[in-house]
Amino acid sequence: MKDELEALDNEKPPPELQLAANKQHKGYAVVDLPATGKERLVVLGSGWGAVSLLKTLQADLYDVISISPHNYFVFTPLLPSVTVGTVEFRSVMEPIRRILKRTRGRYIEAGAVDVDFEAKMVLVEKQGQFMWVPYDRLVVGVGAQSVTHGIDGLQHCHQLKSVSDARSIRQHIMANFEKAVLPTTSLEEKRRLLTFVVCGGGPTGCEFAAELYDLLVEDLVHYFPETIQGLVNVVIVQSRDHILNMMDQKVSEFAEDTFSRRNMKVITNSRVARITESSIFYTSKDLEGNVTEHEVPQGFVLWSTGLSLTPFTRLICDRLADSQKNRHAITVDDHLRVKGISDGSVYALGDCATVEMPHLLEHIQELFDSVEHTNTGEITRDEFEVFIHSTARKYPLAAGHLKELGVHFDDFDADGNGVICLSEFKNMLVHVDRSLTALPALAQVADQEGAYLGRSLSILAKTFAETSDNAHSSVHDKAIQPFNYHHHGTLAYLGRAAAADFGGGYTYRGSNLAAKYLWRSTYWSMQVSLRTRLMLAMDWTRELLFGRDISRF
Ligand SMILES: Cc1cc2nc3c(=O)[nH]c(=O)nc-3n(C[C@H](O)[C@H](O)[C@H](O)COP(=O)(O)OP(=O)(O)OC[C@H]3O[C@@H](n4cnc5c(N)ncnc54)[C@H](O)[C@@H]3O)c2cc1C
Repeated sequence: MKDELEALDNEKPPPELQLAANKQHKGYAVVDLPATGKERLVVLGSGWGAVSLLKTLQADLYDVISISPHNYFVFTPLLPSVTVGTVEFRSVMEPIRRILKRTRGRYIEAGAVDVDFEAKMVLVEKQGQFMWVPYDRLVVGVGAQSVTHGIDGLQHCHQLKSVSDARSIRQHIMANFEKAVLPTTSLEEKRRLLTFVVCGGGPTGCEFAAELYDLLVEDLVHYFPETIQGLVNVVIVQSRDHILNMMDQKVSEFAEDTFSRRNMKVITNSRVARITESSIFYTSKDLEGNVTEHEVPQGFVLWSTGLSLTPFTRLICDRLADSQKNRHAITVDDHLRVKGISDGSVYALGDCATVEMPHLLEHIQELFDSVEHTNTGEITRDEFEVFIHSTARKYPLAAGHLKELGVHFDDFDADGNGVICLSEFKNMLVHVDRSLTALPALAQVADQEGAYLGRSLSILAKTFAETSDNAHSSVHDKAIQPFNYHHHGTLAYLGRAAAADFGGGYTYRGSNLAAKYLWRSTYWSMQVSLRTRLMLAMDWTRELLFGRDISRF
C-alpha cells in the first residue's frame, strides 16, 4: 500500500533519452547515457521476471533502462478469464512506466534484436528504427514463444500469450455464436462453428476450456439456449496420456473427470497432424501400434502446446555456443549469470532461462573429504548430517533432495555397517543428481528469480561502492548466496472447480464455489498493484451481478 501511494506522487520523471551526437556503432546510432557515477542496468522485457526485479531493486543504485515491445506488464494467469470477459483487459495490465517510477527508470518501447557483449551494447528496433543502448549490466527477461512442432496450418489457430490474443479469442467466440444462429446457417455449419478445439492439455489449454465452459453455462445459455443444448462441443487434444500431466496424477484424473462430467471431450495420446480453415486432423495409435488419422470439423482452435526460444534468445545461445548447450533456453549459473560471459555482467531469468543444476558427482572427492576427518575412508551418521547441511547451503537448489538423503541413510548404507564408504557415497550423489530437474516455466519461478536478482543487484551496487576489489565475479560470489527456488504449488482452474498440486503428493481438489473463490483470492493477492486489485474486485462483482459482457466490438 505504501509503495502504491509513493508511486502516485508527482515526482518528475527522468529526462528523456537522446541519441549521442556523431556516435555510431556498427552502422546504427547509439543512445546517449551520460555518466552519473552509477552503473547502467538495462532490463529486457516487461513480464514476470523483469517486473519482479524492478519492484525489488532498491531505488537510486542504478541508472535503470527498461526495454520491451509492450509498455505494460500482463498478469498471465488471468488471461484465460479475459478471453471470455470474466475479467476485463485493463484489469490484468499494469503500465511499465508506473512500475519504473520508484527507481526513476527510463523506458524504451522496442524489441531487442542483437547484442554486442564486447562493446556492452544491445541493439533495439521499433518499426524499422534501430539504436544501440549501452549497458554495464544486462538482464534478459524476454520470455518464450509457442512451439510449433512444424505443424501445417497454425495460421488458423489462436494462441494465448498476450492481451491482444485474448481480445481476438473473445471476438472469435462471440462471432461464431452470432453466425451459428443466423437463419441462413446450415445445421452442419452450426456444429462446426460451435466446435472449440484446444490443442494441448497443459494449464493454459485446460484453464481456457474451463473458462469457456463457465461462459457457456453461466451466460450464453440464457441467450442461445437451443444452440447450447445440442450443438456446442469443447474438445481437448493432448499428446500425453493425461491432461495437466506436469501436476500430480490425482489432479490430472480429477480434471479429466470434471471435464467429462461437463461433456467436454478429452482426447489423450493423440497428436495434432495438421489444421485447415475448417478442420483439425489428429493421429492416434492403437494397442498394436497402428496409427489412425481422425478429422474434427472446427470453428475455433487454440494452440497451446509448449514453449520455444524467441529469435533474440536463440541469437544469444548461438553467440555463446561454446557455453550454451541447451536448445530450449539460455543456461545461467546459480547466481542467474549467463554462462559464457566472463565478467558476469549479463543475467537471464524467467521462461527464456534455465538454471544449471549442480552436478554433485563432479565434486565427489571434495565433498567426501570435507566431512571425513577420521581418515577411515568412511562417513559416520553425524558427519553425514554435517555434509547435508553444508552442501545444502552451497547448493540450495539441491537442498530438498539432500535432506531426503538423511531420511534414507540406511537404504544407501548397502553393507549395513552404520557408516558410508566412498562407493555408497557415490550412489547417493548419483541419486541426487538424477532427481534434480530443470525449474518449470512458471510465473512463480520468474517472479522469484526477479526478486532474487533485484536483491542481489542492490547488494552488489553497495558492495562495489565499498570495495576496491575489481574482480567482479569473486565479489559477487562472496556477497550473494546462490538462487534458491521455493515451490508454492501449482494451481489450475477447472470451471466451477479448482485443483492445486503442492508437491510431495499433497493436492487440493474442489468442485464447489469455495474452490473457485480460493483460486480467485490467490491471484487477487498476487496482483502487482492496488489499481489492478481494485479493478479485479470490480470485474468479479460485475460478473456476479450482471454476467459477462457478451457484446462483440
Ligand atoms: C495464458 C497463460 C497462463 C499462465 N498461467 C500461469 C499460472 O497460472 N501460473 C504460473 O505460474 N504460470 C503461468 N503462466 C506462465 C507464466 O506466465 C510465465 O512462466 C511467465 O510469464 C514467465 O515470465 P517471463 O518474465 O519469463 O516472461 P513473460 O512474462 O512472457 O514476459 C516476457 C516479456 O519480454 C518482452 N519481450 C519479448 N521479446 C522481447 C525482446 N526481443 N526485447 C525486449 N523485450 C521482449 C515481452 O513483451 C514481455 O514483456 C501462464 C502463461 C500464459 C501465457
